[in-house]
Amino acid sequence: MGKSKPSLDLDTPVQYLKGIGPKRSSYLSRIGVTTIGDLLTLVPRRYLDYSNLAKIAELKVGDAVTVVGQIIARDVKKTRSKGEVVILAVSDSSGLLTCRWFNRPDLKKKFRVGDLVILSGEVSFYYGKQMVNPNYQIVDPDKNDMPIYAGSIIPIYPLTEGMNLWNLRRSIMRAIECCLDKVKETLPEYILKKHNLLKMDEAIQKLHFPETMEEANKARERFVYEEIFFFELALALRRALVKGGDRGLTLKEKGYLTKRLIELLPFSLTEAQKRVIEEIGSDMARDQTMYRLLQGDVGSGKTVVAIYAALIAVENGYQAALMAPTEILAEQHYQTYQPILRELGVSSGLLTGSLPSTQKEAVLKGLADGSIKIIFGTHALIEERVNFAQLGLVIVDEQHRFGVVQRALLSAKGESPDFLVISATPIPRTLSLTLYGDLDISQLDEKPPGRKEIETIVVEPTRRAEIYRFIDRKIEEKNQVFYICPLIKESDRLGLKSVERAMDEISRVFVNRKVEILHGRIPTRDRKRIMEEFRRGKIDILIATTVVEVGVDIPNANIMVIEHPERFGIAQLHQLRGRIGRGETQGYCILFLPENYAPEWKRRIEYFASTTDGFELATKDLEIRGPGELLGKRQHGLPDLKITDITRDTPLLFKARRDAFQIVEFDPELNDPEHAVLKEQLARRFEAKLELLGIG
Ligand code: ADP
Ligand code: MG
Repeated sequence: MGKSKPSLDLDTPVQYLKGIGPKRSSYLSRIGVTTIGDLLTLVPRRYLDYSNLAKIAELKVGDAVTVVGQIIARDVKKTRSKGEVVILAVSDSSGLLTCRWFNRPDLKKKFRVGDLVILSGEVSFYYGKQMVNPNYQIVDPDKNDMPIYAGSIIPIYPLTEGMNLWNLRRSIMRAIECCLDKVKETLPEYILKKHNLLKMDEAIQKLHFPETMEEANKARERFVYEEIFFFELALALRRALVKGGDRGLTLKEKGYLTKRLIELLPFSLTEAQKRVIEEIGSDMARDQTMYRLLQGDVGSGKTVVAIYAALIAVENGYQAALMAPTEILAEQHYQTYQPILRELGVSSGLLTGSLPSTQKEAVLKGLADGSIKIIFGTHALIEERVNFAQLGLVIVDEQHRFGVVQRALLSAKGESPDFLVISATPIPRTLSLTLYGDLDISQLDEKPPGRKEIETIVVEPTRRAEIYRFIDRKIEEKNQVFYICPLIKESDRLGLKSVERAMDEISRVFVNRKVEILHGRIPTRDRKRIMEEFRRGKIDILIATTVVEVGVDIPNANIMVIEHPERFGIAQLHQLRGRIGRGETQGYCILFLPENYAPEWKRRIEYFASTTDGFELATKDLEIRGPGELLGKRQHGLPDLKITDITRDTPLLFKARRDAFQIVEFDPELNDPEHAVLKEQLARRFEAKLELLGIG
């Protein structure tokens, strides 16, 4: 290995490292590595501990293990469902393991007989021990004399295609040789001491070339702490900014509208609703801007709370806007509450993209001159030509579908209006602290009384006819049915039942029933009519995609049928099931297992069927799928937590959060010389996002 040129620095593109050309550097950039500094702090996803590597002969079904073996045969076959499977037979000194990768054309030419591979995955059984879709790493046997092979702990990086582990390790070693002494510490010394964290340079060395697992863990810990710490620091600063400025509105409840709302409602509020209204009310009455998240499971009665808050704004002469994620939802809110609001003498309106332009003009005028007090709408509300006379409260429903930018745009239509975010996604505490760490949280943890527990039925393919008869009896008893399919049109590739095919089948099975379809591609006007007919009980079975997932509230529709439940996440199934169980009759959620289902699908679906507790399900979902997928796209405007595993790193999360918030409390402008390094890091990490966060 030649001596590296002295001109190399942390900011030098990785491409200038020996062994990394333009091609490899473009691969690396996909995992976020562009400079030598990035490469040094590339945190391995995990480590292989060769000191206790598993022997193939000793593997048991269900073990999640890593083995090393040599490829003794390879093959590519067609599967029954017209896919392809890449098959390897791998042996170590003790036994034989078959590996199968389904529909991975990229792997067809990847392996050669004789290659040494590291495989990790779960052991199952199919004519012998096998792993399906294991993680793999091909070992380069020619380079066996390299020092990077020394030691028994091998880091596994988030590799992209075209860059193998050994090349990467060689490059990292070169980067350490040339640049480790140039690395700067990013955390104040007292923080390192407090948690006994490794210094940056030592951490880098041990991250890539640990001698024991303890060393590797210690190094990773430092980087995880650092990642969460800066994330939380940004949240803490944003929160301080929101709380600090007392340019907010003072909206005190007068009661002449809110009291009457309570009288007009056909039910009395739950204790949880009263408590949450209290929390929101006292926030609004304060002269600081409210920035609050209202969280509650499906059906817990969040909308009434939102209307209550809107009326407080109106009592103070202000307008309120309620922004929903879909037109269907916005319309539903409007239809439900417009009559009550009219009775209260409060004029309300609806603004969606599909509104005819004359109506739209009228609504825009009403908002601008202040004659419309409460507006229900979609994204259309944030369009530029929407102006409010005096916007006092912004309510965003089901916020995980909105971005931070959209929130900000709506808020900008008033002068620091209060802000209420409503979310029906139950979120485990660790997650809500990281995702909504800058919001105050109100929790609706109680359901309205008298609701019957929904019965969830998992149906084997052979029992379909029987269940159809059951559904038909329920329709006879005047129930209505949501029938959810994962797709609109047939797709050969996936072989799933679509809305269109279900329509064929269902209208043949249920000849005497009125069946309709609903999905996103149906023109708005028809969609409205269909929803309206369904609401009025004119349709018995509504075959739909997940357009009904969020918020739709039709008490008489008390049966939810889901085709291909395996295609949906637990959180999504929970949302769908949450659409029913609102009326007087017993609700049923019916999940049709597909033909040839995998046992793990059934296990997951049966787990879902075993509880209706949203928080329990969310916690499980978090375990299974990780936080990113659970919430869909991240919406906080901050970069993702890349290396932190929220479930596993919870203790570090709490530590880092406490440190960050304490620092901002005592040194909000980070003026302490010890904190200069933090300012510098924030600027580096968040760049353009700082302005959005309100951090100057
Ligand atoms: P969420 O938005 O939390 O899913 P909604 O606000 O849509 O729930 O309320 C679900 C249903 O429960 C609606 O039909 C609503 O009128 C009703 N509801 C709300 N609060 C109560 C209550 N305290 N008692 C009885 N029914 C209620
Ligand atoms: Mg709702």
